[in-house]
Amino acid sequence: MIHMAHIHRVSCPGCDHDTETQMWVPSGLGPSLYACPQCNTTFPSGRIEWPHMSVPGKLWYIVNSSALAVFLGLFGGTLIAWSVLCLQGGVRAKFEPSGAAYIAGILAWGCLIALLQALRIRQSLMRVRAGETGPFRPRFWSIVNGLQFKMAMAIWIPPILAFVVRKTLIE
Ligand SMILES: [Zn+2]
Repeated sequence: MIHMAHIHRVSCPGCDHDTETQMWVPSGLGPSLYACPQCNTTFPSGRIEWPHMSVPGKLWYIVNSSALAVFLGLFGGTLIAWSVLCLQGGVRAKFEPSGAAYIAGILAWGCLIALLQALRIRQSLMRVRAGETGPFRPRFWSIVNGLQFKMAMAIWIPPILAFVVRKTLIE
């Protein structure tokens, strides 16, 4: 059984600082060593760079990334459709995600996630080519660490913004 909401924190063995929040099932791509941003301890990330990945590993990354794009695309699309309805003032009516906003939302989130996952392969190839494979310092704005969790949070930005705009400017 797949635990959709499974959240796992990767902590530094030196100072227990949370270096990464993993959600769902990690894709496994990235520098093999992390350096803690707080105390500089180096520890294995459980990740592997693209050229060093086995064929099943690469296939897994593609299947995992596609599933993420579809799942978060559908969910994010629903939230975009809700946001549009919220701005139009119709949230109290029965919400049925349909129409242009839903389709556009699914495509926007799905394509963005697919694009970022493809960009991660490119970044990995460039790191290996440049001999800069780590230790990698996980960062908030990096797409290397914890991207699934970051995207799962990002899809909530449009409905929150729409709700705030409606409450402050429209009502
Ligand atoms: Zn540390």
